[in-house]
Amino acid sequence: MQILEHMARYGFEQVMLCHDAGVGYTAIIAIHDTTLGPALGGVRVWDYPSEEDAIRDVLRLARAMTLKSAAAELNLGGGKAVVLAVPPMGKRESVFRSLGRFIQSLGGRYIATEDVGSYMRDMEHLSLETEHVTGLPVAMGGSGDPSPVTAFGVYQAMQACAEQAFGGPSLRGKRVAVQGLGKVGSNLLPLLAKEGASLVLADIREGVAEGAGSEFSAAVVSPDAIYDEECDIFSPCALGGILSQGTIPRLRCRVVCGGANNQLENIDDCSLLEERGILYAPDFVANAGGVINISLEFTGYDEGLARKKAAGIYDTMRCILIGARNDKVTTAVAAERYAGERIAAVKAVKHIYQ
Ligand code: NAD
Repeated sequence: MQILEHMARYGFEQVMLCHDAGVGYTAIIAIHDTTLGPALGGVRVWDYPSEEDAIRDVLRLARAMTLKSAAAELNLGGGKAVVLAVPPMGKRESVFRSLGRFIQSLGGRYIATEDVGSYMRDMEHLSLETEHVTGLPVAMGGSGDPSPVTAFGVYQAMQACAEQAFGGPSLRGKRVAVQGLGKVGSNLLPLLAKEGASLVLADIREGVAEGAGSEFSAAVVSPDAIYDEECDIFSPCALGGILSQGTIPRLRCRVVCGGANNQLENIDDCSLLEERGILYAPDFVANAGGVINISLEFTGYDEGLARKKAAGIYDTMRCILIGARNDKVTTAVAAERYAGERIAAVKAVKHIYQ
């Protein structure tokens, strides 16, 4: 991968390679765009098969954060950090404290939070070395786990999609297939069940789907069979890259709307969904509840306000779906345009000297 060429093509500002020989780890911090504010994004900890995989991931995720915060009307840019190998338990504190020192050296251009493979305890360790960390435990004055608000936002997005696809926002009587019952998926289930949706569930962890299935009188299928389930809405709430040329032909739904990041393997795969008559809810719009929740930590966290702001995802999604129809572009392209227009508009005023 030609990193500098990629940075120029997609408008990246800065990529920082971090190495601490004393602690024994490597990390990469990518800052995509800070037009709207400091670059906020999670710290992903993963056993990457190669350096190239880690670089691709951090760049893709940082850019998605820029789009997510822009579309959610937040005064934040997009960034991400990856730690290239999962540290053994006894070494996590030193890795995160060391990473905290690198983050501090950026002077607030990047603000860290939790992501796949990092946890509250890790954020506490970061906070010992840098003030540029959010999503801290409630006991430390933070906003705690963002997942309930993320799920609430996905529920709003689903209603906006239902309005377009079925002629009304109600999910009553709709059959929703939920893939992944972790922090987001498990918080989505009670909202759907309360509204009278019928559910079909899958998770790769043994017994998890069965447990939720008996709690919500839902059907349970294997992780592979969920793609073939006849349903109204397919809701990806597990990992990214699950909508591909291999899986899209198998879907038997009218809407795809879920909480997972980077659901499309490739942005062009959105056309494949639309050719099959499936409405795709752009993921970074649907799952913005988490970053909305975290953003309130800067001004004093208030859960009621977080939910009120996340309810706005309904209108944003509606606006993007209508825009896609009017401009005759896919919903994925319409969402990127929507976010991009706000960044361009703000960039245009920044040339005035203050
Ligand atoms: P999580 O790790 O708590 O849950 C993921 C769940 O998916 C787990 O239960 C796992 O067993 C299951 N899973 C993994 N692969 C699967 C497969 N192939 N089929 C079925 N189940 C599978 O993660 P989470 O916090 O719930 O996040 C879920 C997704 O939402 C991720 O893509 C994450 O990046 C995104 N997201 C989360 C938040 C948040 O607030 N937690 C915010 C925005 C986006």
